[in-house]
Amino acid sequence: TTARISETDKKSSVSFNDIAGLKEAKVEVMEVVDFLKNPETYTKLGAKIPKGVMLVGPPGTGKTLMARAVAGEAQVPFFSLSGSEFVEMFVGVGASRVRDLFKRAKEKAPSIIFIDEIDAVGRSRGKVNAFQTNDERESTLNQLLTELDGFGPNTGVIVLAATNRPDILDKALLRPGRFDRHIYLELPNKHEREEIFKVHMRNLVLGEDVAIDILATLSPGFSGADIANICNEAALIAARKKTEAIMQEDFLEARDRVVGGLERKSKIISPKE
Ligand code: ATP
Repeated sequence: TTARISETDKKSSVSFNDIAGLKEAKVEVMEVVDFLKNPETYTKLGAKIPKGVMLVGPPGTGKTLMARAVAGEAQVPFFSLSGSEFVEMFVGVGASRVRDLFKRAKEKAPSIIFIDEIDAVGRSRGKVNAFQTNDERESTLNQLLTELDGFGPNTGVIVLAATNRPDILDKALLRPGRFDRHIYLELPNKHEREEIFKVHMRNLVLGEDVAIDILATLSPGFSGADIANICNEAALIAARKKTEAIMQEDFLEARDRVVGGLERKSKIISPKE
């Protein structure tokens, strides 16, 4: 496997408008946008701008979306890498990817580095799966720590990382000057689910009988990603029927399919846990 380092152009199209709910997380993330846009406000008073921010929350709650929105709102380049891509890599490759990523981000500063699934590289040392050697993961993690320590606090690069397993992270990652800020993203409540449905229905052709509050009531425990999935699935169901608009029954059918998918997933996952 080769890790992809992707860079979006200056006009990352995601904005805070695309994120529903998550009010408190948004307020905290807006501060990061301000660090990138107006660093002098902080540096002229002698403040050190934080380098690393950890986005913590269950799968599908919008961590990646939030990171992209920071880049979009601040109008800075976005470099991203996923921790899980390192797992199957040859020794030495992970570390050099990390080095390369930081180098490119520094050249383009102000910029954002986003490391998704950081727990895949950053899980605490010693807790390894018996079938896997941990050399590669460890050298990648060490390189990441070296890079984080190696650049000054006011170089204009902010590293955002995402995890749904903060409990297994190596404590070295969380020390002051590294990922010392945490922003929590929770699963949406009913009102927030309504808001997420509205965001994902913006571009859909809706029938008159679509009742968002009922859909939100019928989707307890669903993440933003699940809701996005329902909306798209409903559109596909309606399209197959060759109708003019997507009706409530299409959303209900889509919801049942997503529930079915979630149940299958949890059956596969739970024996391991
Ligand atoms: P994972 O932990 O599985 O990587 P994540 O927390 O990074 O998930 P995202 O990839 O950001 O989640 O979310 C997936 C998709 O779900 C988004 O692209 C978006 O369409 C939708 N979504 C998630 N949360 C929200 C939200 N709060 N508002 C609107 N859409 C959302």
